[in-house]
Amino acid sequence: MGRDMVVTSDMDSVRQSALDHLWMHNSDWITMAEEGGPSIMVSGDGVRVTDSEGKVWIDAHGGYASVNAGYGQTGIADAMLEQMKKLTYFPQGTTTVPLIRLVEKLGELAPANLERVWPASGGSEANETAVKIARAYHKRRGDNGRYKVISRRGSYHGATGGVMWMGASAGLSDFEPAMPGMLYAPQPNFYRCEFDSSTPSECAERSAKAVEDLILLHSPDTVAALIGEPITSAGGVSVPSDEYWPMVREICDRYGVLLIADEVVTGFGRTGRMFAMEHYGVVPDIMTIAKGITSSYLPLAATISATYVADAFAGEDNVFRQALTFGGHPVTAAVALKNIEIIEQNDLVGNSERMGAYFLERLEELKGRHPSVGDVRGVGLLLGLELVRDRETKAPFDDSLQVSKRLTDKMSERGVIMRFSGDKVTIGPPLCITKDDIDEIVSAMDSAIGEMESELS
Ligand code: PLP
Repeated sequence: MGRDMVVTSDMDSVRQSALDHLWMHNSDWITMAEEGGPSIMVSGDGVRVTDSEGKVWIDAHGGYASVNAGYGQTGIADAMLEQMKKLTYFPQGTTTVPLIRLVEKLGELAPANLERVWPASGGSEANETAVKIARAYHKRRGDNGRYKVISRRGSYHGATGGVMWMGASAGLSDFEPAMPGMLYAPQPNFYRCEFDSSTPSECAERSAKAVEDLILLHSPDTVAALIGEPITSAGGVSVPSDEYWPMVREICDRYGVLLIADEVVTGFGRTGRMFAMEHYGVVPDIMTIAKGITSSYLPLAATISATYVADAFAGEDNVFRQALTFGGHPVTAAVALKNIEIIEQNDLVGNSERMGAYFLERLEELKGRHPSVGDVRGVGLLLGLELVRDRETKAPFDDSLQVSKRLTDKMSERGVIMRFSGDKVTIGPPLCITKDDIDEIVSAMDSAIGEMESELS
């Protein structure tokens, strides 16, 4: 209590310092000042966080869908402290007990054959590493021409120099030239399918076939890998129907292309399975993980390669030449181990499946009540909603109406953290969420969307 008082009494100067010095993600300081300065969070518990003014928020955003175990898990803090007191850090070259225990655990959790773990600090690094491994793997085998990487339009795989070009996001022209060798396949999202399809299966099959066409167009001996989230989190979530990943797996096998599953968001129970590829019965060649591995208590990520991929790097002449100072940090490893224990002991993967089904049902009800809700979708606690101006034509709202800002603000007024982007929102709350929490979020959405519809009618 005493400590909170000090923090809050000093808040005006803290807020001013944020305006003077902080370069916030996707934001600028002038707009932030006009909006009264940033919200400053000071504590968290379960699915709720409290700001410096004492306002309690329910976090439907879940810290970019990363706080899987929920806020305020003091057991994780204890594990962190215990390891810090023993050994705060030591670079790889030698190694540490928590890191060894963690890679052993990951080998156990990951699908069969994914055994060799390259630790990093964030999802972007893990994906950069996956692409480097894929390209080098082909070279090690004498297949020197393979460097191109297929990603799917509308996906996001990170913000660093290479991976930012995957997914064909808009707004990257500031950072050109683009990384060479980027190829883009369709996103298998039935609601916005690039093909004239009458069923989700047809969309999935045609989208998978488009991957094959792309490989053939560019010649298989130039393509190193395909990277994709099993269930796409960006753009209000896209859930391919069952046919998609087995077909893509088969196409990759046929043309010698490595399949990289980006499980940065979907891993550790987010979709009601430990890893989302399990929904499709498909095992990738390389899998990347981050976020839920520590529930964001500390930064940690990893690239896990199948044994047959990793084996190409065995032996003195074949070493994979890459080091990251913080990769495999022992304190983050101890945190990850404790976090995974909490996820398992509390059956948060099962809760994600059950609560996700309930949440989706409630979102379907919203769709029934609000003509502006064009589509709701998702699996487990990775859920999305897409707004439209006209449900018949699926025409989006005009940008000038600032639908995303309106709704983000209206949800804030109702004490819910939910960040709309364009006409879409991705929902990824902590996996310990309850039905009552979901009811609270849906009721806030109901009135926020209703109010927006009246303003725009
Ligand atoms: N991959 C996916 C699917 C993501 O959503 C993100 C981040 O949101 C990343 C990779 C990049 O992770 P990070 O922000 O930890 O670099």
